[in-house]
Amino acid sequence: MIEFNYPDSEIVEQFLCKYKNPKSRVRYETTIADFIRMLKFKKIAEIQKDELIYHFDMVKDNAARVCHTKEFLKFLISNELLSKEIVYDGKFVEQVYSFKATQKDPGRTAIQYSINKIIQMDRDIKTNYKNIPKGNRWDYERSIKIAFFWELIFDAGFSVGDIKSLKARHLTDKKEYIKSGRKNVIAETYYTEGMNLTKRIIRDYYDRLLLDLGNKKSKDGFSSLLSLVHYNNDELEIYGLLAQDIIAARNKFYIQCPNCGKRTKTTSTNWLFVKHKDSYEKYLVCNLCKGTDNID
Ligand SMILES: [Zn+2]
Repeated sequence: MIEFNYPDSEIVEQFLCKYKNPKSRVRYETTIADFIRMLKFKKIAEIQKDELIYHFDMVKDNAARVCHTKEFLKFLISNELLSKEIVYDGKFVEQVYSFKATQKDPGRTAIQYSINKIIQMDRDIKTNYKNIPKGNRWDYERSIKIAFFWELIFDAGFSVGDIKSLKARHLTDKKEYIKSGRKNVIAETYYTEGMNLTKRIIRDYYDRLLLDLGNKKSKDGFSSLLSLVHYNNDELEIYGLLAQDIIAARNKFYIQCPNCGKRTKTTSTNWLFVKHKDSYEKYLVCNLCKGTDNID
C-alpha cells in the first residue's frame, strides 16, 4: 500500500488490484512507490516524456524493476491516464515498451531451474501469447517469439545456431530452400517425410509468426528471437531468461538412455526398469529400446 498522501493513489490501487498473489503485489508496490517518489509525487497526467526516459535510465540495472515499471506504464498508456502527448505518440509508446534492462552478462552460466519451475515456465510460455489480444502487437509478438524459440530449443532440441541460420522464406518454399544451397537442420527436418515434432511446431506458429517475418524479405532470419531478456515471470522470480537457461532446462527433462543412447523425456511412460537374468538389480532404460540389444 502506498501510505503517503498521493493524489493519484486510486489509479495506483486500480493497477495493483490485478495482482492477487501477495508476493507479486509487494514487488509492484515497491516499484511504483519508488517511481512516484523519484518523480517527486507528480500527478500521473503531468509526467513528461523526458522524465520517463530519465527514470528508466536510473533503474536500468535492475531487470525486475524495469519489467514492473513497464507493466505499470502499459496500464497507464492503455487506459489513457498519462498525458495526451505521451499516449498518442506511437513512436514514444513503442520506445517505452521496448525498454530493456542492461544485460549484465549475456555469457553467464545457465541458471538451473527446478523441475517445478520448468513445468510452470513451459506452460506459461506456451499459453501466454494465446491470451494476449492481437491488437496489443508488442506484447503479442514478443510472447509468440518466445514460445516459438522455447519449443524449438526445449522440445525439439535445436541449437541457437540452427535457429539463427534459419530463414522464414526457406520454410515457405522448398524449391527456394534447395536452390539456396544452404543446409539448415530445422528446414531439413521440416521437409522430411511423415509427421514430426519440428513440422508440428512450424505449422503451429507459421501463420502467426513466420509469415510476418517472411514479409520482411530483407531480414527474415530469426536472430530477433534471441533477445529473450523480455521473458520475465514474477511468480517464478525469473528475470531475463537466456538461451543457455532453456538448454539447461531441456537437459534436465531429456536424458540419454543408457542402452540405446537416445534422448528421451523423463516422464514415467517413457522409461522402465528391466532386469537381466544374471543380475539382481533392475536397470533404467527407455521405452523405445526396452533394454534389448537391437539398437540402431
Ligand atoms: Zn533406449
